[in-house]
Amino acid sequence: TTTTETRKFEAEVAQVLHLVTHSLYSHKEIFLRELISNASDACDKLRFEAIADPSLLSGEGELRIDVSWDKEARTITIADTGIGMGRDEVVANIGSIASSGTRRFLESLGSEQRADARLIGQFGVGFYSAFVVADRVTVLTRRAGEPAGAGVKWESDGRGEYTLEPATLDQRGTTVSLHLKDGEDEFLDGWKLRALVRKYSDHVAFPIRMPKEAGSAQEDGDEAKADDAPEWETANDASALWTRPKSEISDEEYQNFYKSLGHDFNDAATWSHNRVEGSQSFTTLLYLPSQPPFDLMMGGRDERKGLKLYIRRVFIMDAAEELLPHYLRFVRGVVDADDLPLNVSREILQHNRQLERIRGACVKRVLDLVEKLSRDEPEKFAAFIRAFGNTLKEGIVEDHANRERIAKLLRFASTKGEGEAQTVSLDDYVGRMAEGQDAIWYVTADGYRAAAGSPQLEAFRARGIEVLLMSDRIDEWMLGPLREYAGKPLRHVAKGELPLDEAEKAKQAEAAQAAAPLLERIKGLLGERVEDVRVSARLTDSPACLALAEYEMAPHLARLLREAGQ
Ligand code: ADP
Ligand code: MG
Repeated sequence: TTTTETRKFEAEVAQVLHLVTHSLYSHKEIFLRELISNASDACDKLRFEAIADPSLLSGEGELRIDVSWDKEARTITIADTGIGMGRDEVVANIGSIASSGTRRFLESLGSEQRADARLIGQFGVGFYSAFVVADRVTVLTRRAGEPAGAGVKWESDGRGEYTLEPATLDQRGTTVSLHLKDGEDEFLDGWKLRALVRKYSDHVAFPIRMPKEAGSAQEDGDEAKADDAPEWETANDASALWTRPKSEISDEEYQNFYKSLGHDFNDAATWSHNRVEGSQSFTTLLYLPSQPPFDLMMGGRDERKGLKLYIRRVFIMDAAEELLPHYLRFVRGVVDADDLPLNVSREILQHNRQLERIRGACVKRVLDLVEKLSRDEPEKFAAFIRAFGNTLKEGIVEDHANRERIAKLLRFASTKGEGEAQTVSLDDYVGRMAEGQDAIWYVTADGYRAAAGSPQLEAFRARGIEVLLMSDRIDEWMLGPLREYAGKPLRHVAKGELPLDEAEKAKQAEAAQAAAPLLERIKGLLGERVEDVRVSARLTDSPACLALAEYEMAPHLARLLREAGQ
């Protein structure tokens, strides 16, 4: 007897389904990319597990993905011979949303706010994109290594519930069948499907097969009426893109590969593809996105997907943490190492010398790439800085060795800049320093307006000295280790002495003498609360301001620390 169970989706799944079906309508074709990429992931996972247990692969054919369609039944089917899922895995992976990022995303949307397609695309709706074109989705799946009777059938109309029942399946892996909604018949077409496979999945490293159409397109247009056992042909290139020579890869192929990695609809800003030969050989293909992906926007520390580690073309794991420092977490791509043992574990990777070298090379390449962008493509670079400038600033704290290189790439708001926009580089600043000016001056505050309106700036304005306006949360942390740039110290405007010429010094001494009785009085009144009261050249319009001794913490930082409970 078969027992069919009906279960409800998690509340979040219902929400995602709603969002997806409403927001992705103009990008509906991506369902095919998402389902093929899941099938490819499943093949990757099986190949990896089979390293430890080769019997998992035995007897049931090569790793591959079959895409077919049936005009009469109005279905599209994507079948893989990958790892498959057991019942609990189906419930956990397809009935719920595991990613905490997705949860935060939904919370951030609030009740009436609508997510636009771009946002949704950035976090990768994955499996649920099937419901953009289908009103019923059936999944048949059996985990590799399990007997035929251990299969599972999952079915849903994508509204609130799904059903689960046991199934007997001859073949390991997963078959996803989409029953198309009315009006989606354009996808029941061999040409169309083939074109989509080419466009989005050409580089998938496993063969994607489609039924051969034996010149039938001309015969009578009834190409879907395939024989019982259709003849299959491979529709994609099936080579791992990064293993091909650069000169043979078009920009479009690079961009399509990028999109399949990062769940991003948008083009990458730029990329770098390199092969290192030598005692240790490896290939890197690294991309800079053009806009912040979902996880970064959400400040998510836990979702570091997007840099995949392969060993001789076998996918090992998402290894962004092992391959890149945290401040470069926006990078997407692939690293393929020749010389690591296939059965490496995460623990081994963390202390592996070879991996250290690869990591070093990745950091260098990424910084090269950002530098190149800043030199050659100012507009793209400006967009990149808007998206990732603050992330990059973390590198000043995190990566001593590259501090100067990173500092060169940063952009700030300044009293000689373009308002709030962060466009001024430290080189710009140093290049227009006033004569006799020996420091890079900055002010910190918790907003641009507060920084730009600080009374501390008066004297600097009066002397034509530029001041950097720092108002991002990360700035105070960054300024701790960023003591100097190009041999010039960075100084807070509230600290130390202003650069004065001789005449000014004389004038100030005179003023100090005249004000001596007043200073005594104020000191008496303020008592312990201040260390000193002085006549200052800092001010032109305001009567007084608070200044800091050289060793004191900036007030803004002091407050941040208090807030952090330090
Ligand atoms: P993602 O691929 O980003 O994890 P998806 O929504 O695309 O998110 O898929 C959710 C999960 O469902 C996958 O992580 C995987 O565990 C499982 N899954 C989906 N499709 C397949 C498949 N063809 N074979 C095996 N597992 C699958
Ligand atoms: Mg997926």
